[in-house]
Order: sequence, then structure tokens, then C-alpha cells
Amino acid sequence: MKPHTPAPQCAICGASAFVELVKDESGVFWPAHPGHGLEVTQVCLNTSCLSELEKGEELPHKIDSFLKKQVCSALGLARKSGHIVAGQDDVDACFKSGKGIKCVVVAGNAGASTQRLSRKWLEKLDVFYLLDKDTLGWSLGFTSCSVVGINVKAKNARAELKRYAEWNDTRKVINER
Ligand SMILES: [Zn+2]
Repeated sequence: MKPHTPAPQCAICGASAFVELVKDESGVFWPAHPGHGLEVTQVCLNTSCLSELEKGEELPHKIDSFLKKQVCSALGLARKSGHIVAGQDDVDACFKSGKGIKCVVVAGNAGASTQRLSRKWLEKLDVFYLLDKDTLGWSLGFTSCSVVGINVKAKNARAELKRYAEWNDTRKVINER
């Protein structure tokens, strides 16, 4: 039986934490992998908690590029393990057969017809509207890619996508305020 470990809490407000940060010698916070060996500060998504730790826009930018990098490398690994399906036709075929994929990434700058088609996928699949065609392609070793389907076995890629999507949704709300 696994020992019960309490869910990490935000160091500022006590809400459930979203990301781990470590502080460097000059007192600047950086998002980090667990087990980095340095003292870890947990923080939630709340902008006021982030700015309480570190003033300015730098910390949200660092978290953003960290999460993006995590997504890209997880997608790259998923591809190497043969856990992805690239291109809208292949993804649509998987959707219709109900086999092979669990979630889809649609690049934010994918064409209108792709965007339209992807609405249908929402019936059965998790669809993430994230990244752009070049970044998505680059993570997979292609020049450009609008649509990627992710296999049920690629748990890490799906977890990273979910986390980055959550962050992006929060950013959107903040930016629109
Ligand atoms: Zn907080």
C-alpha cells in the first residue's frame, strides 16, 4: 500500500499547488523538476500568488516556457515510442474507428477547415488547442504539423498537455480581464 502523501499546497494561499519552483543564488525563482535537490516552493496558478513571490511578468513567462518545453519533449518521446498519429486525415480515421487515440492537439494557427473538423472530435476525444504548427512540428521532428493524435499509452504527454492547457486557460482569463 502506498503511504498517503498530502497534495502539495501553494506557499502563499494554501490552495492546491500547480507548479514547483526553486530559488537560485540571486533569489530568483525558476520552475523545476521535482527532486532537483534544492529547496522547493510550491505555488498555485493565481497571479497574485506569483507576484507575491516575484514581482513583474518574468515569472509567468518562465513558467510558460517551462511548461511548453515539457509538452514538446513529452510529445517528442511519444512519437519515438510510436504513440502518436500525425495529420488530420489519420486522426479523423482514428476518431471514426474509435481506436488508437485518446486526445488530439490542434495547433492554434491550424486552418479554418481543420478547426471546424476538430469540433466533431470533441464528442469522443480530449482536444487541446495549443502551440502553433511550427512548434508542434518541431517537437515531433517534422517541419510543420497542424494536428496530432495521442495514444492512450502516452500518459506523460497527456498529463503535460493537460497541465499546459490549464495554465493557458488561466492566462487567457487574466489577459482578458
Ligand atoms: Zn496561491
